[in-house]
Amino acid sequence: MINVFQPELSKEELQAIAKVFSSNWIGKGEQVKQFEEKFAAMFQISPDHFTSTTCCTEALFLASELFNYDSTSEIIVPDISFVAAGSSVLAKHAKLVLCDVDPRTLNATADSIKEKISSKTKAVILNHYGGVPCEMEPIAELCRTKNILIIEDSACAIRSFYKGRGCGTIGDMGVWSFDAMKAICTGDGGMIYLKSPEKMINAREFLYLGLPVKEKSGMDGVKAGKANWWEYDIRRYGRRALMNNIMASIGLEQLNKLNRFLHRKKEICETYMQELSSLDWLVLPPPLPDYIESSYYFFWVQLANRDGLAKFLYENGVYTTFRYWPLHKVKLFNSKSRFPNSDYVSKHTLNLPLHQSLSDNDVAKIIELIFQYGRQQ
Ligand SMILES: *Cc1c(COP(=O)(O)O)cnc(C)c1O
Repeated sequence: MINVFQPELSKEELQAIAKVFSSNWIGKGEQVKQFEEKFAAMFQISPDHFTSTTCCTEALFLASELFNYDSTSEIIVPDISFVAAGSSVLAKHAKLVLCDVDPRTLNATADSIKEKISSKTKAVILNHYGGVPCEMEPIAELCRTKNILIIEDSACAIRSFYKGRGCGTIGDMGVWSFDAMKAICTGDGGMIYLKSPEKMINAREFLYLGLPVKEKSGMDGVKAGKANWWEYDIRRYGRRALMNNIMASIGLEQLNKLNRFLHRKKEICETYMQELSSLDWLVLPPPLPDYIESSYYFFWVQLANRDGLAKFLYENGVYTTFRYWPLHKVKLFNSKSRFPNSDYVSKHTLNLPLHQSLSDNDVAKIIELIFQYGRQQ
């Protein structure tokens, strides 16, 4: 079976893990620090604005703590979003307000967000669908005038740029994922960007048991030179959601490979675009404007009989999928609004295989099967 997404992990990662094992410190330490620094360097922003965590879902839930969502707040989330974006709003009993998406990019737009703004709107959680940035200029302008926080779910947009600015660092908070299916993988893992240094202190405390980060105290009492180093105090309640040196050592190797991964995925997207453009029954993603750089995380097609093509490809050894099932169709989220574009895309969009390990033969096979399916219709 040709997978739709797939990580590439090999001897470099194994050697890095072996080094961590022999160092006898596998918890959060030097490798985590280096990973955060190397990640920050991609954006040419100080690592003080970045902190790692266990996964991107944890980071989304962290937003509900940092920005004090409560039962009087409304949080706008695009209907085509990962489930955790919706769930994170419910965590503090805020109101989840879904907005529709553009039918071609599957991203929220300034207009779709604007429709849903009320005096209670506190934040919008954007999703850069498949690594293609949302149209950020009008969205940022809208949110600035309405005093609304921007949280960028950049799980698919590890190196996406909008007019030179890295996705995840344009708004107030950005979150990334390194789970098994993402552009780079640390087993599981996540990264957080925060614009505000004060919020970053809160975030670090929350992610590590509520222990104060400024004083070297608490579980670090020995280093602080305390007589009774087992005594501690906490500043707030907190969780324990840290990346460790094993994860970070994998991440450091993966970051070394990211350019190659992205280059190969771009090549595959271009092949899909070229080869499939002659099929009049298939709608391809819109071409990228020149001020946008994508992370090439998804390649998708849209067609009348999406389910038929998905099944045909599956029967012929090619796995495809649709991301993300609309949140308004999830019963728990209890939405009564209508989302015509999101309804449309969820019926007609198919994500084709896209990962760095696809061979030219794999890509040719997928394309040939799509042509074959077309001839049978
Ligand atoms: C994968 C994904 C997440 C969740 O990331 P985890 O690290 O698995 O928690 C969040 N948002 C989007 C858009 C994703 O694709």
